[in-house]
Order: sequence, then structure tokens, then C-alpha cells
Amino acid sequence: MNEKEILAVVRAYFPNALTTSETVTRMLDLIHQHYDIEAKQIMLADSICSDDVNTMEYPQRAYEMLGPFKMGGLNGFPFTGLTGMNAFAHHVPEDGAVFVYYAPHIGITKEGITGEINRVGQHKPSACCGAAKAALTKLLNGAIQEGMISELDYQQNTIEQIFLRQEDRILTSSHPLLEATTVMYEAINDRINLLVSKTEYPCKYLILMGGILINGDHDMGSFNACQRFEVIDLRDRKSTDMKQHLLR
Ligand SMILES: [Zn+2]
Repeated sequence: MNEKEILAVVRAYFPNALTTSETVTRMLDLIHQHYDIEAKQIMLADSICSDDVNTMEYPQRAYEMLGPFKMGGLNGFPFTGLTGMNAFAHHVPEDGAVFVYYAPHIGITKEGITGEINRVGQHKPSACCGAAKAALTKLLNGAIQEGMISELDYQQNTIEQIFLRQEDRILTSSHPLLEATTVMYEAINDRINLLVSKTEYPCKYLILMGGILINGDHDMGSFNACQRFEVIDLRDRKSTDMKQHLLR
């Protein structure tokens, strides 16, 4: 399968998807052109799932930025909370920018099957995102108890509660896992907005990118379906929507 064919498989579900490396390249170029900020002046924080595939498929050019600070836990929810957001916000160069990338993730195989991927050295596919699929199975079985968040499995229980609050929407969807992924994106986006509103950034710009992170089989790479790309000037909190530039 060539790159074009692989991208076509992903775009059947996510029409605006780009590879994660192309996303980072375009983002860095745009920030340089429009704001005169270079990669080494940007503190990167990501809120993505702890899944090892996300580490293995991390786009190389992202390492030109400072960081990354890891905000995410299972399925990309920003579990490091206000303390995490504050920590890296204060590690940024004063004339630079903070860049937060956040996304739930979903696997897709070459055959176009969602919710799983073929991993290195394994002869059959495994769940991706495993946490989202487990929470969805529990929701389908009516086994999620309202308000039940345990210390032993805090992150997973939090995802279960997020799904339970949107039970009707997920269960009536023709593609429950895709709908659950959208629900997860919205929950992460809301939480990021709340954390941002309570944080001071001692630099020039705050760059926010929200997406759906798509993991292909191990020889396919990873992709980003951009949902939001916004640059906030911290002097006047004026926000500029850059999504159309990214997806040009
Ligand atoms: Zn995951």
C-alpha cells in the first residue's frame, strides 16, 4: 500500500486527516510565518493517550520544540490537571509560545477497521484505544455505575463516567466507537478550555490544537484530524483561528 492509498483509508472516516508529521511541519511553518516564532521558542505539551503506540509514532519534528510535557492519561484526558498546566506554562521562553496539542485516539487497520491496529510483532490486531473500547463495552452492557470512580482505576472510571453522561448519543449512533471518540474529544476540549482559563502564561502566545489522533497499523504511521487550531495573543487574549491555513 502506498502513502496515498493509506491516507484514503483514513480519510474515509476523517476527511481532513493529515499525517502527524505533516501536521507538525505545517503548524511550525505557519507559526514562523505569521508570528515569527521558531520551534525552539515553543514549549510543547500534549494531552494524548499513554498507549505505547503514541510514543513510537511521535512525529520527529515535534522534538524541535521544547518538551513535550505530558498532560494526558488514558485516551488523552488531561489528568495532570491544573498543576500540570501551570507547570509547563512556567517553563516557556518569555518571547515564545506555549503549544498544547490534545486528542483522543482511535486505531484503524489497512482494511479500514476502526478501533484496532496491528502492532509490531503481533499476528492479530489489538484494541486501540483500549481504554475507550473497554469503557464502551461496559456502557453497552449497562455495567457503568453512576458516580463510581475508584482510586485503583481512577482514569478508566473517569472515561466511563464521561461516556455514561452521553449514553443515549453513543448507543443510538450507527458507529458507537466513533461517536464515543467524538464525545471524548468534546470532554477533553472542555477541560482544556477550563484549565486554560485558570492559567497565566508568561510568554507571547498560546497555541491550541485539538484533534482526533488516528493510529494506523505499525507500517501505516499516525494521522491527525484537526478539530481546532487557534493562536491566542496573550497581551490582549485575542484569538485567531488558523485551522483553514493548516488544512489549505
Ligand atoms: Zn488509548
